[in-house]
Amino acid sequence: MQIIDGKTTAAEIREELKNKIKNLPKPPGLVTILVGDDPASKVYVNSKQKACAETGMYSVLEKLDENVSENELLEIIEKYNNDESIHGILVQLPLPAHIDEDKVIEAISPKKDADGFHPVSMGNLVIGKETFFPCTPHGILVLLERYGIETSGKHVVVVGRSNIVGKPVANMLMQKKKNANAIVTVCHSAAADLSYYTKQADILIAAIGRADFITSDMVKDGVVVIDVGINRVEDASKKRGYRLTGDVDFEGVSEKASYITPVPGGVGPMTIAMLLENTYTAFQRIENFEE
Ligand code: NAP
Repeated sequence: MQIIDGKTTAAEIREELKNKIKNLPKPPGLVTILVGDDPASKVYVNSKQKACAETGMYSVLEKLDENVSENELLEIIEKYNNDESIHGILVQLPLPAHIDEDKVIEAISPKKDADGFHPVSMGNLVIGKETFFPCTPHGILVLLERYGIETSGKHVVVVGRSNIVGKPVANMLMQKKKNANAIVTVCHSAAADLSYYTKQADILIAAIGRADFITSDMVKDGVVVIDVGINRVEDASKKRGYRLTGDVDFEGVSEKASYITPVPGGVGPMTIAMLLENTYTAFQRIENFEE
């Protein structure tokens, strides 16, 4: 069994980007818009800012009060749509209840859609045209590629159909393209016997949000396991009172798997690396810059 080390792969990608960016006439710019004081969002935003700075990108944090109106937020997005120093725009989700998330995502210029959540990006993804891939699914495909894991003709079973993970990763892997071309099954909570599907997986992608939910009796020998889940489980032995675990029972499943991503240190670090990658891609497209 081989561990798929997302932390190391993400660090390599950041280093590659850093080397490309240092030779550019101007840096790619990313603005992160944070509304309110949600502690988890603050942690995510800080990590994104730090990664941006380390890569040599120009990074702006636009911190807005929890009570900012939807209109004010839309105006701020429009300002960055027209700002030539900014190539990627990210609005940290979730937003407060009085703001319509869909409206906000749609206000971002599809040319600067660093998160890949805009309906134009999603539509282009489905029909296989040039787009921005959402960061977590993109990270999964890059991990499979960099670890030399064949996807063509393989049966990929995705558990979860969210707009940010399950649906896009399934669509990306079914494209008639290099590093895709898989036979894809998507499962969700209506599956009466989930293991009927998961046992058929050559590659199993778990994006469920339930701790240690996929157990060794649900997979076949040699399966490649991509665990997207990030779940907090109470743990009195830890200073902070909890530990992070994935959707897959790592101990049991790793005995049968050929490859497996750990949590933490698997898919998670790739998400930020792909945000930087998307910003760099947006820079190339906007500035008509080719490597
Ligand atoms: P989500 O929107 O809550 O979707 C969960 C999906 O799992 C839904 O499609 C749901 O089915 C399905 N599901 C729930 N219980 C099930 C069951 N018993 N059997 C089969 N399917 C079941 O979650 P998400 O946003 O995709 O996130 C999933 C996990 O990934 C979470 O732990 C999240 O924290 C983590 N995550 C990690 C990263 C990262 O960077 N590593 C990024 C994003 C998310 P229904 O559609 O029928 O409800």
